[in-house]
Amino acid sequence: MVATRSARERKAAAQAGPLARVRIDLDGEQQLLYRISCTSCRARKDRPWSTHRAGGDNGFMAAMDRWTFHLVEKHPGDDAPCLAFLGEAQQRLHERREAD
Ligand SMILES: [Zn+2]
Repeated sequence: MVATRSARERKAAAQAGPLARVRIDLDGEQQLLYRISCTSCRARKDRPWSTHRAGGDNGFMAAMDRWTFHLVEKHPGDDAPCLAFLGEAQQRLHERREAD
């Protein structure tokens, strides 16, 4: 049974921590689209920093990895449950680079 979108959203938000805002949309092909934005950082044109990735669990993982790196880089003093998986996130990043 596939978890509902809002249940996935809550789970992702809990993992990403208090600085993150998580949204899950569906794209034109009914694929899940994960978007994690930072409530503290502003990127260009005064839009919040955000990352988005499409596709079920892989998209979730990729978006959460990017968010984890953002936290480490920009908010080293802040805590979030996803930081517990930093080592795994770095390993996945490494594997993705190897695959290129
Ligand atoms: Zn930030």
